[in-house]
Amino acid sequence: MNDHRNKESMEQLQKFALHIGATRVKLLPAGKVCIEDRLANFCLDPKCPHWGQSMSCPPHISGPDSLREIVQSCRYVLVLRIEIQSESLHGADRPEVMRLLHEITAEVEKEAIRLGFTKSMGLAGGSCKPSFCHDQLHCRVLEEQGECRHPEHARQSMSGYGVDVGKLMQAAGWSTNLFATSDETEEEQLSWVAGLVLLR
Ligand code: SF4
Repeated sequence: MNDHRNKESMEQLQKFALHIGATRVKLLPAGKVCIEDRLANFCLDPKCPHWGQSMSCPPHISGPDSLREIVQSCRYVLVLRIEIQSESLHGADRPEVMRLLHEITAEVEKEAIRLGFTKSMGLAGGSCKPSFCHDQLHCRVLEEQGECRHPEHARQSMSGYGVDVGKLMQAAGWSTNLFATSDETEEEQLSWVAGLVLLR
């Protein structure tokens, strides 16, 4: 793909991501993605309740070194974020919010592939297990060596690969402390969740 076509495609991709529900989208040079082994290790210690429960989380994903290699093969990445009321993200709606994040990330990945970034790879915050397979005892891939039940939308865990999401937010110029004015006098705390699409 030539540079002009590349630029057009990336602009189109950002519009697409906003259109399907991302609150913010930013293209960044791939070098802005910081990957740290110690962050990936946090999945195990202190142990995340979803550690080892799906094919999309450690220890079943290939880990920081493999992601470093993939990032080195990219020129750009697209980072996206959904901003939402804190009570939704931290309450009973959390699995649905995280599911939406995975769905948006996966759709942006697919659009990137359609636009010519044929090896693009989307990663999303959180584990797919509580959002997609909460009513199943086990991940089908792990339990039966079968197909994922939701290959169209469930994506691998960004944290599990050690991506420094705070630095990504900084590189995008996005504050991590958010408020929205709900009426003339009150402000409500907002939270956010992020996804990443490696364009290649
Ligand atoms: S089968 Fe369910 S838990 Fe396993 S990878 Fe797919 S969505 Fe995740």
